[in-house]
Amino acid sequence: MAGVLFFPGCNLRCPWCHNRELVVGGEDGLIDIEEALGFISKRKQVLGGVVLSGGEPLLFYGLPQVIRKIKSLGLAVKIDTNGTNPAALEKICSDAETRPDYIALDLKLAPSRYAELLAEVNPQSTPTVSEKLLHGAEFIKSSQIPHEYRTLALPNNFITAKDIEELAPLVDESPWYFRLFRPGNCLDPGWDAMEVPGMEEANALAHKAKELGKKGISPTGGRY
Ligand code: SF4
Repeated sequence: MAGVLFFPGCNLRCPWCHNRELVVGGEDGLIDIEEALGFISKRKQVLGGVVLSGGEPLLFYGLPQVIRKIKSLGLAVKIDTNGTNPAALEKICSDAETRPDYIALDLKLAPSRYAELLAEVNPQSTPTVSEKLLHGAEFIKSSQIPHEYRTLALPNNFITAKDIEELAPLVDESPWYFRLFRPGNCLDPGWDAMEVPGMEEANALAHKAKELGKKGISPTGGRY
């Protein structure tokens, strides 16, 4: 059983993101990190670990102290990340007291398309965010920390086999899970009206990953 802490703030703006309040919201609904850690501490006997999610948890300035505290309780730590903050990831991984036990890397689109996910379109930031993602993925590969990759099948074939081809070099032999986009509270409300992709679309992406020698896993759990 795991507790989950959702951290506010993100450097990306995926239009389908369903954590709108965390990404662009204000202080409403947030609790102090000390309060959250107190909550975890009281339940440490029933928890096996804590997931640090978001938003993008690696943007949180005090993350090393948070991980240190959780590990001092004897709990494992998993990080959910978009992979575009490699310096922060390397920093926590380089210290045994803050090294996560597991990493889940979200792969959104082909790296060359990450400019579509930036808050402000800036031609200068396209190579930067793509390069950071490549750097982050390479680091995860070589980190010897157990990890997985996650990609959503999106409406209107927003992500295609071509994206999977471009993403494949970032992925090693670890599981690459494909799941379906779900509308509701999307960052771009226009996406709430979009048709949910069929299972076959996610299966096709997983199948493409398998063709490329990856461990693509469809939403049904079957391996392609
Ligand atoms: S889906 Fe993840 S990476 Fe994208 S905006 Fe939401 S929190 Fe950020």
